[in-house]
Amino acid sequence: MRNAPLLADEEQALFDTIDRWLDTKVRPVVRQHDHDDIYPAQIVEQMKELGLFGATIGQDYGGLGLPATTYAKIVMRISDVWMAITGIFNSHLIMAAAVERFGTPEQKAEWLPRFASGEVRGGLALTEPDCGTDLQAIRTTARREGNRYIINGTKTWISNGIEGSCFALLVKTDPGAEPRHKGMSLFLAPKKEGFRVGKKIEKLGYKCIDSAELVFDDYELDESHLIGGVEGQGFQQATGGLELGRINVAARGVGLAEGALRLATEYAQLRRSFGKPIAEHQAIQLKLGEMVTRARAARLLTLDAAQTYDRGERCDMEAGMAKYFASEAAVENSLESMRIHGGYSYSKEFDIERYFRDAPLMCIGEGTNEMQRIIISKQWIKRSAAA
Ligand SMILES: Cc1cc2nc3c(=O)[nH]c(=O)nc-3n(C[C@H](O)[C@H](O)[C@H](O)COP(=O)(O)OP(=O)(O)OC[C@H]3O[C@@H](n4cnc5c(N)ncnc54)[C@H](O)[C@@H]3O)c2cc1C
Repeated sequence: MRNAPLLADEEQALFDTIDRWLDTKVRPVVRQHDHDDIYPAQIVEQMKELGLFGATIGQDYGGLGLPATTYAKIVMRISDVWMAITGIFNSHLIMAAAVERFGTPEQKAEWLPRFASGEVRGGLALTEPDCGTDLQAIRTTARREGNRYIINGTKTWISNGIEGSCFALLVKTDPGAEPRHKGMSLFLAPKKEGFRVGKKIEKLGYKCIDSAELVFDDYELDESHLIGGVEGQGFQQATGGLELGRINVAARGVGLAEGALRLATEYAQLRRSFGKPIAEHQAIQLKLGEMVTRARAARLLTLDAAQTYDRGERCDMEAGMAKYFASEAAVENSLESMRIHGGYSYSKEFDIERYFRDAPLMCIGEGTNEMQRIIISKQWIKRSAAA
């Protein structure tokens, strides 16, 4: 069962609120926060007030209960201005979705209201130093002792790893299981003794949001933290949220592609060469023509995937196509926008260099674009089975 659609005027009122916030609170601080890699604590407080930490969590648990389509449009708007801050609530919401879809009634009642308010924030801890795409190769283990589990292992690249306080943690409860996924379980792992941050990872872009290594050293959890209460479901629970995650990454790609286009369009009309605005040179027009087409196509693919998700239909192919196309559009538009900005593109006094640094992450996160094309193709062949 998916969240119900909003009335058009309700949705518009929400967008107006987001736009006001972006104009008054976000735009003025983005450049300095990004350059100095400062965690945006004040913005996080504002995001709590806006309800973003509960955006897709059901209203019964204190969330906004937004459908994927409205949520994607919000992410597009924010990413047009500053993509990185969407990471603070997105992986948090994927963790919440795993609890809402697969958790026991007690887990939902205990955790979802605290996730929705932003009191407890976190994300998804899947990737390890030796594996990302091949998640079934993880080595973190949870050994059962009575009604407790003892967890050992290391996760890396975990978004919100430093500032977050609770993570959906993928482990092996039966390391010898065949097929491998049958030995995997997902736990709700709050920070406490035995769970420490190894290091902060310095990055090319996606600044301000903390990416960290997390180390589990005889970390003990009561069995009530096993999501769904049954071992062996973790792989399905962790990857079950990826459709929504991919729609989110696609929406971030759309925002970046549109933002890079917006900056290029403004600049091309102001910058003059050979007696006229550069927008009047055909070489620049060709670029803008391609950029606007790419951005529009990315938006439409993303909304198509979100609408399919909201109808409760299978959408791995649609989400994959949206994620793949929109992330590549973000990379291409930010590079073309750099070219249009000429030498100033290389200056930190202009915003476009941030889009150029942030965009490539969209091709990696929530399944690399290599994997997306394979997923799209497999599903396409399945749906087009020869008679
Ligand atoms: C900024 C940032 C934030 C992140 N946040 C999180 C987070 O919050 N939580 C989390 O768990 N992880 C997170 N990740 C990790 C991310 O999900 C992984 O980096 C991603 O899944 C790729 O895994 P990998 O880096 O191990 O690459 P690998 O799996 O080693 O892949 C390397 C290359 O091989 C290709 N490849 C691998 N297998 C195949 C195959 N079967 N067929 C074709 N090509 C293949 C890949 O496409 C890629 O090009 C984050 C990463 C970054 C950079």
